[in-house]
Order: sequence, then structure tokens, then C-alpha cells
Amino acid sequence: MKNKPGVLEYKPLSGREFPRFSGIKTFFRLPHVDLHESFDLALFGIPYDGGVSYRPGPRFAPSAVREASSLGRGFHFSRALQIFDKIKAADIGDCPTVPIDQEQTYEKIETFVSRILKTKKKFIAVGGDHSTTLPVLRALKKHTKKPLNFIHFDAHLDTFPAAWGCEYHHGAFARHAVEEGLVNPQKMIQIGIRGPLAGGDDLDFVRKNKIKVYTVDEVRAQSLEQFCQSLPKFEGPTYISFDVDCLDPAYAPGTGTPVVGGLTSYETQRILRSLQVKDFVGGDIVEISPPFDHADITALIGVDVMFEMMALAAGSSR
Ligand code: MN
Ligand code: MN
Repeated sequence: MKNKPGVLEYKPLSGREFPRFSGIKTFFRLPHVDLHESFDLALFGIPYDGGVSYRPGPRFAPSAVREASSLGRGFHFSRALQIFDKIKAADIGDCPTVPIDQEQTYEKIETFVSRILKTKKKFIAVGGDHSTTLPVLRALKKHTKKPLNFIHFDAHLDTFPAAWGCEYHHGAFARHAVEEGLVNPQKMIQIGIRGPLAGGDDLDFVRKNKIKVYTVDEVRAQSLEQFCQSLPKFEGPTYISFDVDCLDPAYAPGTGTPVVGGLTSYETQRILRSLQVKDFVGGDIVEISPPFDHADITALIGVDVMFEMMALAAGSSR
């Protein structure tokens, strides 16, 4: 597993040579390389949380997830897949951001993702608050030219109206994504949704656009296996956005707008593993707030979701 001089193998740093608590922190101890090197899957951070409405902190998530991913291993037990034999993945660092200016940050995110797409790579981003997903989707739409299939894990619908007179915040990104034609509402599902809602406008929007919502009640109304099998298949270019607050705060305390009565870690693992996604183009994990985390519980969820997305990127969808 050692990288030979001049030959980058895109494997995690060996834990035998460098124990997992040592070394410079990158996602899954993968090499940190320039985007233009020859690999398939770019991992990066979006350290921005200027779109939150309550507790801040996701600007620190990329660092925390890199640190927690020191324990990330490459062999996927239930998929019987050595991920890093199937796909060349690398950490390309963080997207530049402007902590006090959302407009400039959006432009930087869109430019950053566009540059990745021009190299024909797939990507997984660690946000950031959920408002950062919008410029990522804008870049993807310009590239794929048609609205994406969209799988959205969240406690919230994120189709809320403007807040404090501001259109762009973490509770409105999904509404903008639909309104701007970035995602296809007919090929969009939301999983983990639960109340209470802030008003009802968000639910009206979802109903009007016929977006398929899976509440926690619906997930639990049948066996987990039955629920997983009931999910639709996704054929075309598909994006997955994972807001960590889809989990119950008992499983993901480190987040800004926690809602009790959520999914368990195991349920999200099983749901992610059951997704049938033919063409995974990219994904993100957002709303991890390390200052409110305990014992890295939430950062570890981020690592695991990243692992499942890497498996999908490696083409292991069933
Ligand atoms: Mn969200
Ligand atoms: Mn949320």
C-alpha cells in the first residue's frame, strides 16, 4: 500500500507504517493532490456556515471529518468491496470561501465544482451548511445540461421561503434547486423528514411540486428491509445530499438545528446501501457542527456516509 516514488497509488496511508493517529490529516488518509492529477473521485471540504439560522459551526466540519476519517478503512463488509481497488480517490483540499460574504462564496463554490467536472471526475464534498449545496448543483446543471435526480436526506424540507429578507439560507436551498430547474422534482426524494415545521409554506411547496417525501413515520411503518426495497431506482445523473440532522440528535448531536425523533445511524447505513443509483455524479455531507459534537459521534457519521458514497461512486449500486 506504500506509494512508490513517482507512482501515486491513491491508497490510504499504511496504518502499519504510520499508525492511524499519525500523519497529516486528509480524508481517509488518501493523498492530497492537485485536481489535474490522474484519479477518479475528488474529495474536498466546503468550510462555510454563513447560511445557518441557529447554531453555527459547519465551517469546522471538513477538518473534523478528515481527523475522524483516520479510522476509515477501505474494505466494505456488506458490499464485499475493497473500495480503493475499484476507484482512485484523492483529497483535493478545501474550496475557497469568504466567511462574511455568501454571494462571493457561492461563486467560488460554483467555479470550484465546475473545474472538477471539466476533468470528468466525480466528487464528494463535506460542507458547510446546507446552503452550500445550491452552487454545487448550479455547477452540475451547467455540466449535465438537464435537471438531476436528487436524493435528499434531512429532518427538514429545506423549501422554506426567504428569512430575514434573505433568499439564500440553509433552509431554502431545495426550493431554489427546484425553482432554478437544477433538480427534477419528479425524480427527487427526501428521507428522514419530520416535524415540527416552521410554518407550512415549505410543505406546500413540496406538495405543489410533487416531491416524494419519506417521513420517519413512513420509514418505521414497515420493516427496514421493506422500506429499502420500496425506494425508487435512479437511472440518470444522480446527486445525493446528506444533511446529518436526518439522524436523531442522539446519533448526531453535533449539528445546528437538531430535531428529535430522527433516524438511527444503522437505518441511514442500510438506506444508503440499498440505494440503486446507476450514475452517481456527486454528493455532499452537510450540517456537521463540530463545536456541538461529543466524542466525534457526528463526525464519524460523516465519515461513514462518505464511505457509502464512495462505494456508489465506485459503481457498487445494486
Ligand atoms: Mn438541510
Ligand atoms: Mn436539516
